[in-house]
This record gives sequence, C-alpha cells and structure tokens, in this order.
Amino acid sequence: MTHGHGNEELTSVEDHLAEILGTITPLAPAELGLGDVDGLVLAEDVSAASPLPSFDNSAMDGYAVRVEDVAAAAAENPVTLPVTAEVAAGDTGAYALQPGTSIKIMTGAMLPHGTEAVVPVEWTDGGAAQVAIRAPAEYGQAVRLAGGDAKAGEVLVGAGTRLKPMHVAVIAAAGRGSVLVRPRPRVVVLSTGNELAEPGTPVVPGRIWDSNSFMLAAAAREAGALAYRRAVVPDHPDEVLPAIEDQLVRADLMITTGGVSMGGEHDVVKAALQRLGTIRFRKVAMQPGMPQGFGTIARPPAAGGLGGVVPPGANTAAAAGERVPIFTLPGNPVSAYVSFQVFARPAIGALQGYDALGLERVQAELTGPLRSPPGRRSFLRGVLDRARGRVAPLTGQGSHQVATLGKANALVIVPEWVVQMAEGDTAEVLVLP
Ligand code: AMP
Ligand code: MG
Repeated sequence: MTHGHGNEELTSVEDHLAEILGTITPLAPAELGLGDVDGLVLAEDVSAASPLPSFDNSAMDGYAVRVEDVAAAAAENPVTLPVTAEVAAGDTGAYALQPGTSIKIMTGAMLPHGTEAVVPVEWTDGGAAQVAIRAPAEYGQAVRLAGGDAKAGEVLVGAGTRLKPMHVAVIAAAGRGSVLVRPRPRVVVLSTGNELAEPGTPVVPGRIWDSNSFMLAAAAREAGALAYRRAVVPDHPDEVLPAIEDQLVRADLMITTGGVSMGGEHDVVKAALQRLGTIRFRKVAMQPGMPQGFGTIARPPAAGGLGGVVPPGANTAAAAGERVPIFTLPGNPVSAYVSFQVFARPAIGALQGYDALGLERVQAELTGPLRSPPGRRSFLRGVLDRARGRVAPLTGQGSHQVATLGKANALVIVPEWVVQMAEGDTAEVLVLP
C-alpha cells in the first residue's frame, strides 16, 4: 500500500517490513551443548527417545506394599508389616516385594517388582525392621508410572521454540546433551555524524554524545543477538563505506544510524551505499522513522579469520561472499529506536528462524489527547498501566527527545488515517521490551 504525500510516494510499514523479512534467510543451525542453548531458537524437534520417566518409581518417601496387605489399616488399628529391604533413588538393583511384607522406598526409587502402592512415611511410624501403617492405600498410590510424563516418540519441544529454562529442563530430562539450534545473530552497530562525541568525553558546543549505537547494541542483545558497537564514523564519503566493509566479517546484520535523510551531501551513508545498488532508500509512512534504508551488502573475504574468542552460540559459519542485511536508520535517537523495534527486531528473529519477535500489542484507554500527521502511522511514547488498561501519552514527542524515551514503556500507535485521538479513546499500544 502506498500513500500520496505531496508528490512523494510513501511505502507502508507493512510493505517495508515484508520486504525486509523476504530478504532474510535464517542462519545455518549448529549443534550446541545444553549449557549454551538458552535464549537460542531450536532448529529440530526434540522428542522423548524413551518414555519419561523410563521406569515405574515412587512419588514419595514411604513403604512399597500390596493393597490387600494394608486394606484393614486404620489409625486406631494399624497394620504391622515386616520391612525386608530399603531402596533409594539411583539404586539399580532388582527388588521383589513378597506378599505380607513391605520395602522401604525413597522418592524417585525404582518400584520393587510386585508393588501396588506406596504408603507415605507420614501414614506410618517410620519403622526400620517393621512398620506400623495407619491407613489403607489405593492401587497406584504415590506411584509414578513409566511414560506418565511423556510417551516414547512424543515431541517435547518443537523446532522454532526460543529456549527458556523450562525447555532446557525438558531437553535435559529427555537425555539430550546437545541440540541443533540457530546461532545468535551477530549484529554490528555503527553511527555516523561529525557532531558525535563518545559518552564520557567533555561537552563541546555543537556536538552531542552518541547515544544511538549504545542503545541499538543493547536493543539487539535484548532481541537475542550478539551485538558489537563500532566507534563513531565521521560524515566523510571516504570513511563510511570502508568502515562498514571492515565490520562485515563479523556481522550477520548491520545497523547504521544517521546520514540518510534528505539533506544532500552531508547524508554520506545514503550517498556511499546508494552507489552499491543493493540498498534501497525510501520513505516509510510512519513517524518517527520516515527515511529508511535496507538492503544487503556482500561480505568481503576475511583477512585473518575471526581472531579472539568466539562466544558459544555465535554464528561462525558465515562465509565470504554471503550477503549481509543492512539497515540504515535515521539519526534521531527516537527515530532510530522506533525503527529498530518495528523493523530490525523482527529481522533479528528471522535470522534465527523465529517469527514471534515482534512487540506485544495491547489495547489501552488514552488518558490524554494526541495528534498525528495524515498519511503516516505515529508511534508515540507513552506510559502504559497494564493493570488499569490505560496509557498516558508523554509530552515531548520530538524525535530528538531521548529523555522522553527514557520515561516510556510503550508506543501508542495512531493509524495512518487518524489525525487526532481524544482522552478515553481506545488505542493500540506496543509494549516495549
Ligand atoms: P541525521 O539522520 O544524520 O540527519 O541526524 C538526525 C539527527 O539525529 C541530528 O540531530 C543528529 O545530531 C542526531 N543524531 C545522529 N546520530 C546520532 C547518534 N548516534 N546519537 C544521538 N543523536 C544522533
Ligand atoms: Mg548526520
């Protein structure tokens, strides 16, 4: 969908995102040890090779018995049985329960052959040579049957799952020491601008501290990537392209900020990359974040390998000649932030074969009015109170107003065709991660 906007054609947010996701192919999967897979996306179905649990065992500390032998047990009239053995968790010996006897058993221990129920120790006097049992037990009492958790062959964790601690537990419980996962995408962030100074250096009139590259590296990590920040690159045509090319050996995705607006010769990122012909610069029907660039750039041959230590889970299969997706985001910090969340975050997901990395959307009632330009989708910083279902738009919505960004936990979406909303209206809200 395109919108007339003066004499400019705007690309819709959806079309731009669809083109990005259509360009990205997931990274090749790698087999990784279970200690290094949390947060990564599973690239195979993990199923139970054997039933879980694989043997009948006791759910409690107690006494293995036959139901008939304790049928008459009562608090005022306990049944006393001899205790012929004791079996603990991990004991692999073969035990058999003879009628009229009991075997002391611990939680997780294999059931002796012939066991019909486990009487919890709390119902007994806890005896060692013989035990007084104060209550009858039903067949299967406190028994965990083989396959009672999962059947053999059952898929436990499906391909495409982002592994959380519970998934790691299940995979380990199924006996797998390693699994196929998509590596963490390596994202290189680089900001351009003659005005940019490193945070930590003294303030100089006319200059500002680079916030974008730190913000985007942090956002990329939050999205599951390994992020590297390249120091500020000045607005010089001879510096931008080499700086980008230098980083490509360690990038599965690149993000630049600045230098892509309509300001002509100072917009050196656009000037330098436009010549390559593989990156498309366009105006997207949104605010903030209208000037967007996206495309791919060929990875040059690596000079001396990766060098240094490669973190577990990093993509190391990247080859020279492959094409690295690159985002050129606008320089205003709020524009860069919103652009990242709307476009780059799902792209990082796509590199991991994960399609659920978009931001969560909720509906909330506006606590104040807001305005939006015609023909563009606004993403306005707000404070969402989920418990009350309300969102308060913040004042100071300029794209440079990073302080307001620091107060926000949500973005209020104002659709393209809506130019104002009133207090009490219901708005669509993106929950910020
Ligand atoms: P540009 O997209 O290069 O025209 O920059 C637009 C605005 O964003 C200008 O006010 C820049 O000073 C500002 N800006 C650009 N890059 C950064 C950055 N890395 N951190 C903070 N502000 C920036
Ligand atoms: Mg600039």
